[in-house]
Amino acid sequence: MDVPEDVLGAIREAAGPGGWIDDADAMEPYLIEERGLYRGTCAAVVRPASTEAVADVVRLCAQAGVPVVPQGGNTGLVGGGVPNGGIVLSTARLDRIRALDPLNHTMTVEAGCVLADVQAAAGEAGTLFPLSLAAEGSCRIGGNISTNAGGVAVLRYGNARDLVLGLEVVLADGRIWDGLRSLRKDNTGYDLKHLFIGAEGTLGIITAAVLKLFPRPLLRETALAGAATPDDVLELFSRARAACGDTLTAFEMMARICLDFTIRHVPGVTDPLDAPHAYYALLELTSPRAGEALGEALEAVLAKALEDGVIADAVIAASETQAGDLWRIRETVPEAQKHEGGSIKLDIAVPVSRVADFVSRATRLVEEEVPGIRAVPFGHLGDGNIHFNLSQPEGADAKEFLGRWDQITRLVQDLVGDMGGSFSAEHGIGRLKRDDLRRYKSAVEVDLMRALKRALDPKNIMNPGKVV
Ligand SMILES: Cc1cc2nc3c(=O)[nH]c(=O)nc-3n(C[C@H](O)[C@H](O)[C@H](O)COP(=O)(O)OP(=O)(O)OC[C@H]3O[C@@H](n4cnc5c(N)ncnc54)[C@H](O)[C@@H]3O)c2cc1C
Repeated sequence: MDVPEDVLGAIREAAGPGGWIDDADAMEPYLIEERGLYRGTCAAVVRPASTEAVADVVRLCAQAGVPVVPQGGNTGLVGGGVPNGGIVLSTARLDRIRALDPLNHTMTVEAGCVLADVQAAAGEAGTLFPLSLAAEGSCRIGGNISTNAGGVAVLRYGNARDLVLGLEVVLADGRIWDGLRSLRKDNTGYDLKHLFIGAEGTLGIITAAVLKLFPRPLLRETALAGAATPDDVLELFSRARAACGDTLTAFEMMARICLDFTIRHVPGVTDPLDAPHAYYALLELTSPRAGEALGEALEAVLAKALEDGVIADAVIAASETQAGDLWRIRETVPEAQKHEGGSIKLDIAVPVSRVADFVSRATRLVEEEVPGIRAVPFGHLGDGNIHFNLSQPEGADAKEFLGRWDQITRLVQDLVGDMGGSFSAEHGIGRLKRDDLRRYKSAVEVDLMRALKRALDPKNIMNPGKVV
């Protein structure tokens, strides 16, 4: 819709000085998304610097029926932050850390704080905010909470949802809900914060949050192990979990092709093991307890797995630099994959016990369907979450390959459904997976979601056209 000039003028005034962008070039970064799948349009990008200013802007939009698309770091992978008319409301200037209470192990932050800055502030106070993902230098905490982000430490600390104690939200009519409680126990009716966590901006705008902090790890051990099959990697996970308990903080899996891609395309990446292996496990153990025999525990698990033929080789990082090098392989897989032509990306979850079965069956399925297709499975095996990415056959036409996106996606996602899994483990629904939501959720579930949307946003101005 075209937004009338007088409404735009009022919104501009409400946003305050420095809170307005309508120059075409300056708006460009807010209109496109990470993978270039969508390009949107909007009347202006509004950047309020306080919760009250956000509320004033949303109230004006509600009165005039103007769509509002919240945006944090715009690193989302499902087109959720791409506008289709109306305004983009960027949280970039809501970037204050309002309070940090080390005794209560909480910090209160505004939605526009960059995740890395939140981690750093927690670290300076001798604590840990454990949410960690490759986009942490640019994604913002409001976006993390709105997508219920996962990342590499879910195994030990949970998703964003598990890390939030309270929220402040500007509702779709412009009222402010102050739910900034820092309590670990509070059974007083419906827990409203959970409606907004993972809602991808369709129910309201998160302006601040109370986050949980944890004891800072003093010890860290990182290892990479090579194995012949996904079943072997799963067996190693089971053993490591049993032996190391909650010190096992991350357990990632990669197929060999991930190493091939990163070695080929990412400067400085080399193969950490002497010979290639079909699959790899990247494990990290951490502990806040000084003196804990973490290295010995890891060595014992790996040595026994080697002896039993579960893994074929392994390396334990001897320094922080080496640990960083191992993580770099894992973190740069998506970047490296871009150099291999067209790719179709799926972000699925199955019960952890079925991950290996899924990887084998899904790989066979797509290889039968598209001869030469290159399955690039990697991800958070310890959470049952695999990024089942697919690269085009070598030398194939990228456009033609990407033209089969829906067909191939359907094939894999149907298998995921049959295995009791989820078609979107951590990236959300946004625009990209809206049809999938209708296909894979029951009518009752979709109906409940729509009822919530109608109740909280009766005029459908909050990020319309996303999720439901
Ligand atoms: C290299 C890379 C690695 C990634 N790795 C992971 C990973 O390991 N795990 C994972 O879960 N994700 C991952 N992602 C996806 C992405 O980083 C996360 O979804 C992140 O949480 C999004 O934060 P953002 O600030 O960029 O949100 P945006 O992209 O700006 O927004 C995402 C959604 O949230 C809404 N939104 C944003 N801010 C607010 C707010 N304050 N209130 C209400 N709604 C809001 C938007 O409208 C949109 O629908 C990765 C992305 C990249 C590019």
